[in-house]
Amino acid sequence: MGKKIDLEKEQEKLKKLKEKAEKKSKSFLTEFKQFATKGNVIDMAIGVIIGTAFTKIVNSLVNDVITPSLSVLTGKIDFSSLFVSLDGLTYESVEAAKEAGATVINYGQFLTNIVDFLMVALCLFIFFKVFFKARRKEAPKPVTTKKCPYCLSEIPLEATRCAHCTSELKE
Ligand SMILES: [Zn+2]
Repeated sequence: MGKKIDLEKEQEKLKKLKEKAEKKSKSFLTEFKQFATKGNVIDMAIGVIIGTAFTKIVNSLVNDVITPSLSVLTGKIDFSSLFVSLDGLTYESVEAAKEAGATVINYGQFLTNIVDFLMVALCLFIFFKVFFKARRKEAPKPVTTKKCPYCLSEIPLEATRCAHCTSELKE
């Protein structure tokens, strides 16, 4: 008899645990669904995708247009080959020094990366300045008319009497 009661008890316990687990996974799923379908998550995803595509354009602009143009102006100075080897010996190139196992401070590459970054930042700044200027132009015109509350005609904002129904208008 005692054993049977124990079995029932255990079954009851198991059932409760199962229900608890189901409830937990359900609320987790609901939470995740809410998170994933929230507008800002989708906005964020779109932002990342557009950002990735935009990075390509900016990189292309820098590598294919700006860098060649600048190198004409600066007489084709290539910073990236500038380096100092810490073993005191002179090497033909960064690659040669690295092959010889020397520790190299490749400050030229560092300078190149900084210049690249500054150019990208400048491009973005110009792009967004132009972009927001264009957007501001598209902004709606300021409101100059209002609706007469009596006849619903469009009348000048400053009118104190309606031109259509001659009602006096309290401001
Ligand atoms: Zn009116």
